Order: sequence, then C-alpha cells, then structure tokens
Amino acid sequence: MPDAFQPSWMLHKAVVFLIDGKLPSEAKFLMEDFRLAVNRAVRAGLQAKVSSRYALVKLLYKDFRQDHPGMYAKHLVCSFEVAGSVLKNLRRRLNRGGPCRVPYVKRLMMKAENQAYKLDRVNGIVDLPIKAGCHVKLKLVLSDYHRRYLNDPSLSLGSLTLIPDKVIIAFRKGERRPYEPETAISLDTNERSLDGVFVKGGVCTPAKAAFPEVAEIQARHHGRRRRLQKKKAHDRRTSRLLCKKEGRRERHRIEYGMHQVANAVLDFAEENRSAVVLEDLKGLSKPKRDKALNRRLSVWPRRKLHQYIEYKAAWRGVPVIKVDPYNSSRRCPTCGRIQYSRMGARFECECGWRADKHVNAGVNLLQTAFPEGEAGGLWFSPGAFQHDVMMVLYDPVRGARPEPNGTSPMAGVA
Ligand SMILES: [Zn+2]
Repeated sequence: MPDAFQPSWMLHKAVVFLIDGKLPSEAKFLMEDFRLAVNRAVRAGLQAKVSSRYALVKLLYKDFRQDHPGMYAKHLVCSFEVAGSVLKNLRRRLNRGGPCRVPYVKRLMMKAENQAYKLDRVNGIVDLPIKAGCHVKLKLVLSDYHRRYLNDPSLSLGSLTLIPDKVIIAFRKGERRPYEPETAISLDTNERSLDGVFVKGGVCTPAKAAFPEVAEIQARHHGRRRRLQKKKAHDRRTSRLLCKKEGRRERHRIEYGMHQVANAVLDFAEENRSAVVLEDLKGLSKPKRDKALNRRLSVWPRRKLHQYIEYKAAWRGVPVIKVDPYNSSRRCPTCGRIQYSRMGARFECECGWRADKHVNAGVNLLQTAFPEGEAGGLWFSPGAFQHDVMMVLYDPVRGARPEPNGTSPMAGVA
C-alpha cells in the first residue's frame, strides 16, 4: 500500500464540497455498511487490544471480506483505519482519566483513500466505486473557492470522506520552502489583539490586529451557561446537553474570528515578504489564584490563533519565527533595563524610551528573533520608530486592511 506512509512534510487541507442533487441509494448503503464495519472493527480491536490499521487488517480482513461482500476491498481497509483512529482517541481519553464508554460511530459516513476514488477536477465529479462493477458519480457544487483547489496542479488528492450531503476532500502539497524575508512583523499575543511592530528598511511601525469580539463571545457564552445551569438545576442531563451545545457554538464563533485574523496577518506578511515573529506560548498558562481571571486569560484561543497562523503560513510559504517571550513585557528595547514595577498602558523607561506596553513587547520579540539585526535592515533602532502611526492589519468592524493611516513607512530613515 503505497499510501500508508505519508511523509510529515506533506501539508493537508480539507475542503468541504456540497453534493449537487440527491445522494444515490447505492452510496447510502455503502455508508451504512462502512459504519457497521467501523463499529465492528472497534469492538474487535478493543477485545484483541490492537489499534493499528495493520494489526486490524491482519486480524479482521478475512472475516470482514465475507461479511461485507457489497463493499470494495479498499474501502474495507479504510474502515480499519477509521476504527484505528477511534481506538487511539479512546486510549487518549483513558489515559487522561476521562469517561470511557465503548465508542460507537453514530454518524453515517465513509472514507475512501486516494486510490479508491476518481475526481474529475474540471467538472467536479467524483467517481466512487461501491463494489466490483458498480460505481456512483457524485456531482459537486463548485464555487471560486473550490475551483482554486481543483485547478491548482501542485495539489495532489488525499482521502475522501463522504457524509450524507457533503464530500470532504483532502488536498495535499509538499511543504514549501519559506521565502527569504525582506521585512518582518512581530506580534505579541494579547487577550483582545495581536500587537507589535512591522519593520521595513530599518523603519519600525506599530502594528495591530484587534479581535475584541473573541473576549465578548467568551463572556457572553459563559454567562449563558451559568444561567442555563441555574435554570436547569433540577435536570442535570438537559443542563449538560444544553451547555455542551452552547460551548460548541462558542467554539465555532471564536474559531471563525481567529481564521479571519490569521488570514489578514498572512495576507499582509505575504504582500510585504515578511517573516512573522510570534511568542512561544509554551508553558505560559500558570494557574493563578483568581478563578475568574484564569478563565479570562485562558490560553486556548491564543494558542489556536498561533496554530492557524503557523499552519496557514506553512501552506503559503511564509516564514514564522517563534521566540521565547521571557521578560518581553518588562524589558526596554533600547537600553535593556528590566522593569519589575507595575506598569500602566504605556511602557516608560528612564532612558527616554516610551511606547504602548503591547507594542513594546512586540519590539522585544523582534529583537529576540533578530538579535544581530540580520536579514537586512530588520534591526530595530529607536530613532526610526514611528510613534504616531498605527498599521491596522485586522479590524473586526471594517473586516481589515493594512493601509497605514499616517506617514508612509516607506521613507528610508536610518
Ligand atoms: Zn531604556
């Protein structure tokens, strides 16, 4: 099986297509059969204590081949793979000590490997074999977004997942070598914004990508969950169910916002051929006494945002540098003094350096990333710092654009 091993440098991107028209009944039967095979394999795997696809194939293939005569052999093998990932998730949950009922795939679905289906990339038609001599054709609804993936010859096809009204196709591409940066943008990650500086030709301009809505969404949903818990205190099951639903909605809303911010940052970086400097969030979540504060500072949306930026950057070939944020909010970038006293919104140093505290942290990240000012003019110099300009990378109200609203940052001041 040539596709069993996928090198780590392959990037994947799942694209969701709607199916045009009704799903043929053969495909529906195939999905039911597939789901049955997955669930049976999960049980058998649990009993035999194996979870790798290889082990499941060895253990079950012969029997399953007889019990599922209406399924193309490659789909059957793929069902072992799905079962394997279900089992691995179960093991992870068990290790974490979470609840561990025997998992059961309820959703109607099937997955096919890339050699087990054909895609007409011009017309958007999937040719899916059901069994020997029986194929179905699924017409996909295409938009410009979808065509961009279909028409890009550098993208190869990965697996296909079929759910009742949608087809999800994984596109793959080899990781690109990131370009040689000509400018840099460093962004310190805060609760409601990314703040930092953009440096080009030795000139530093403060930059910002604000996402105030994320904190609001979190607060709103938190409040709703609290009210739900009170109202449904007599009915724990309903309460749990509704809270879970609230949580899912919250997550989706936040994720949507984070995608927008990440895209705006990368559009800007790509346009300016910048390296993106981010702080390494590892080990940042020190729990504090204050429960409410802990919740507010919960690190997950920021980590998620970093994940999005890094992943999208790899896909686009934008270089990302992650640096240790140690003391980045306390250090003065011009004289190196560390301030331990509490600060207001502005960072002020005895040497005369003044800046917004978030911007200051961004400058420090930049300095850590380019300590010697390498990569041509990426060195920060306080004389060439544009204090009165702000570059807006993302604005949730306007939806974004990087027009500097003051003097041009192009002016080559040394
Ligand atoms: Zn100083």
